[in-house]
Amino acid sequence: MIYFKDGEFLTEDKLNVSVNDRGYVFGDGVYEVIKVYDGALYTAREHLERLLESAEKIRVSMSYTIDELLEIAQKLQADNQISVGHIYIQVTRGVAPRAHQFPEDSVPVMIGYAVENARPLEILQQGAAMKSVEDVRWLRCDIKSLNLLGNVMAKQEAFDHGCQEALFVRDGLVREGSSSNVFGMKDGILYTHPANNFILNGITRRVVLQIAENLAIPVKEEEFTLSQALQMDEFFYTSTNAEITPVVTIDQQPIGQGVPGPLTRKLQTAFEAQIPKLVVA
Ligand code: PMP
Repeated sequence: MIYFKDGEFLTEDKLNVSVNDRGYVFGDGVYEVIKVYDGALYTAREHLERLLESAEKIRVSMSYTIDELLEIAQKLQADNQISVGHIYIQVTRGVAPRAHQFPEDSVPVMIGYAVENARPLEILQQGAAMKSVEDVRWLRCDIKSLNLLGNVMAKQEAFDHGCQEALFVRDGLVREGSSSNVFGMKDGILYTHPANNFILNGITRRVVLQIAENLAIPVKEEEFTLSQALQMDEFFYTSTNAEITPVVTIDQQPIGQGVPGPLTRKLQTAFEAQIPKLVVA
């Protein structure tokens, strides 16, 4: 596999990461995941803009422009000959002796790689089970931080209960998944949490809101409770890798008929229509 690190494209044996990297020691950094479909990057600019925004929010100054980052991401895809997969990029505050406060002279460290990763076609078809989990994360969930312990613990709790995704609930309100945003459909209206500090404003979330607008599906970006979620006609979660995953149960209780709903299917179809496709002549 070809990696990117600090201006160079390298094989793994040439990759040198310090144990004093603040990403390793503190999780002091931010990251992005960009999907590749049939060799083409999907919504890459949006992801890279969010990377710069996340870096700015934690006061890491990045020396790359969006166009430079785009070029790096494209080269990672090409050099690794990725057909369907994703590109991972992370930026840390850099290398310095361990002390919590920002080092005076550290230089941010950026690494990237690209891997094949098939679309989760079976689960997109059949739907997923969610488990509600108390959201004990910090209050800056809008930052795509490397600190993912709260998310990791929640995802594992969901897996331990035979579910594919956790549903974060804070103050009785449904927030997002452990690595996804969530949507509910009730009486033809699509509900999702407003984009504030309690959630990551997902790129797939934004795509779904745009598709809903195109299809004239009314949307309310409003908070809702777990019991309201259980009463939804349809429910789904979204992310770069999970796309639009129908949710058929939450805490073992069926949502609607307990099968993927018709509006979810409509959104999936519209999503499918606008991802990059290999053009067969
Ligand atoms: N929320 C969280 C906590 C996530 O980790 C992710 C996936 N990175 C998302 C939402 C979805 O974001 P996106 O659609 O940009 O992948």
